[in-house]
Amino acid sequence: MNELIQIIEDDISVKKLLEIALKEYKFRSISCENKKSAMMLFLTHNPSLLIVDLGLPDGDGKEFIKQIREISKIPIIVVSARHDEKEIIDALDIGADDYITKPFSINELLARLRVALRRNTHDEKILDKIICTDIELNIASRDIFFKAEKLKLTPIEYELLKYFLLNTNKTLTHKQILKEVWGIGYQNEMQYLRTYVNTLRKKIEENSTRPTYIKTESGIGYRFSCHKD
Ligand code: CA
Repeated sequence: MNELIQIIEDDISVKKLLEIALKEYKFRSISCENKKSAMMLFLTHNPSLLIVDLGLPDGDGKEFIKQIREISKIPIIVVSARHDEKEIIDALDIGADDYITKPFSINELLARLRVALRRNTHDEKILDKIICTDIELNIASRDIFFKAEKLKLTPIEYELLKYFLLNTNKTLTHKQILKEVWGIGYQNEMQYLRTYVNTLRKKIEENSTRPTYIKTESGIGYRFSCHKD
């Protein structure tokens, strides 16, 4: 059966646009316009992914995301008119998987939606190997290969690259990365992160000033990009 996408959006024209686009790409969808009915729909329909607007008539979509994260790991994509970096970071930090600002391209949204859905099915399997373009991680042996050659990495470089490989094509905030790789208490040590991203880039990017893997999301964090998979 086709995946069911739940839309929470109070702007009727955007909601309609999303419904039509999803239908065209063979997704099923259900929609609602506020937080209250969103929770009810979520609990009764068991969707595969949520598209959430932040400015909702009965409150902030972030509160809804928080409530969902207490009970579910469902992929969540925020679609919002708020361009403020802090809003984006907050939404990602409380558990959204991705963020798209309005006006947005439907193709871009669909691409991110597919990535989020695919990542979710990956999570359920026990992975022994992750392949991202020219990079291959063997989880059991802790070896990472770049173009079939074994990479020499420091322990932190390894953990950082592994975290990126487990979260490909996803915007990760500085805080998230620092917390996951360095640990709680390091969330604000931006310089550590910058330093290690630089050394990693030198090892895996053809041109470290124009990276194709570790993309900078200005003011927010990084996105590890896989070009084909
Ligand atoms: Ca709105």
